[in-house]
Amino acid sequence: MNPLDRLKIAIARTKLTSTKLESGTEHPLESWILNKVAVEARKSADLRRAIGRPTPKQVDRAIMRQYQLHKVRRMIEYTNENSYFYKARWKEFGIKSSDIRTYDDLLKIPLTEPKELADVPLEFLCVSQTKVMRAFTTSGTSGTRKRLFYTRDDVLNIVDSIAVALKNAGMNENDTLQIMFPTVAAWDPGLMLEGACKVAGLKAVNASTTDIEEQLSIMRSNKTSMMIGLTSFIYRITVLAREKSDLRSFGIKAIILSAEPLPEAMRREIEEAWGCKALSQYGMTEMGLATTIECTVQDGMHVNEADFLPEVIDPDTGKHCANREEGELIWTSLNFEGSPLVRYRSYDISATIEPPCACGFRAVGKIVKIRGRLDMQTKIGFGEKVYPLLFDEAILGVKGSLGYQLTIDKPAYKDRLLFKIEFAGDPVQGKEELLKAISALAEIRSGLENDLLEQPEIEVVLPDQASWIPKTRSIIDNREQFD
Ligand SMILES: [Zn+2]
Repeated sequence: MNPLDRLKIAIARTKLTSTKLESGTEHPLESWILNKVAVEARKSADLRRAIGRPTPKQVDRAIMRQYQLHKVRRMIEYTNENSYFYKARWKEFGIKSSDIRTYDDLLKIPLTEPKELADVPLEFLCVSQTKVMRAFTTSGTSGTRKRLFYTRDDVLNIVDSIAVALKNAGMNENDTLQIMFPTVAAWDPGLMLEGACKVAGLKAVNASTTDIEEQLSIMRSNKTSMMIGLTSFIYRITVLAREKSDLRSFGIKAIILSAEPLPEAMRREIEEAWGCKALSQYGMTEMGLATTIECTVQDGMHVNEADFLPEVIDPDTGKHCANREEGELIWTSLNFEGSPLVRYRSYDISATIEPPCACGFRAVGKIVKIRGRLDMQTKIGFGEKVYPLLFDEAILGVKGSLGYQLTIDKPAYKDRLLFKIEFAGDPVQGKEELLKAISALAEIRSGLENDLLEQPEIEVVLPDQASWIPKTRSIIDNREQFD
């Protein structure tokens, strides 16, 4: 690193608030969030009118909510002044910031569709192009690529939230984090994470190789103590490496599984192999990636509610779902300057969980692990809705399974399900166990009993390290659609 870069990083670090948390802070993420609420109350008369002037210790759930509604009001004003898209939208629907006083008032605000962001990204941009420090293009796993713009303060805020999420998962200055995202085109969360750790003064090594021996050797030479990476990628390494190495001897203290849903079957195997907790992490690129982190209670992921407001709605009625009731996740970014998004549809299926949490969080809420995507739901047999995660649990519950792809077609009147499963172990025995696990699913049984489904077919493929590709779509539907 040249001296100028080092200086820039040193200056950036002084702007972070995660680095100012006292060491030994019990709940770094919540402390950091509540502190931000208290700081905002000092700055804003509007917020003080609603909540007074609380210290971080006094910020409770009701104050947290008031802070978020205040931020939504500010965001409506900000986007009205600076975004072509939202200015027109607020005018069309007659939205004024003063209309938003309660949580249910949020329902007055129309939803923003990902397609709208994809079509006219510049209409969402709220600052002059010269103020844009980073532009991101999303990977486009489902639907079109989207372009997002971040200012310097946006980037610093993302760095700060990544650092505090890592600390909440147990990371400190003595740890080394191994970043394990196989290189995927255009968008690399590994680089973002590596940069964030550098600025925040945390040790990290970026290991994107798909070669398992190399991953383990990087782990040994860097004395890696924590891991973060693509869920299916870390799972694959775990299953293939545990045959040859005692993974517990690495002394890993926590593993963070990111960017893909985490089936419980997968979590159990990873925790068993490495002898530590495996925590789920979820964040959309549109929201700057570091939106949530699971705590050791493993019952939902804590949301960075200082910067993001999650809502869960019934996609059919648009109404808010109750606590723990499943629906579609909707996000509002509360602090972004570059391309802030208001009530943005994620198409992800989840639920909100109100605090307190058994881990000790008392004012900051959670969302449940993502169940699947609305646009990836498939109907089989009698119209039973299935999500990839349903099959994930069944298939990955069979020891030796690494991943799969399901193709659905309809040669005659019945649906036919063909599973192509990557499997490490005896293929004949594996096939038998896999068939048993899949056939045991209620959704499959009902289809078979009603003669609407053919017996599922399974093709077992042996693992091939070199040809590994990250899964983007695990269900391919070749049926002609009439509904
Ligand atoms: Zn918790």
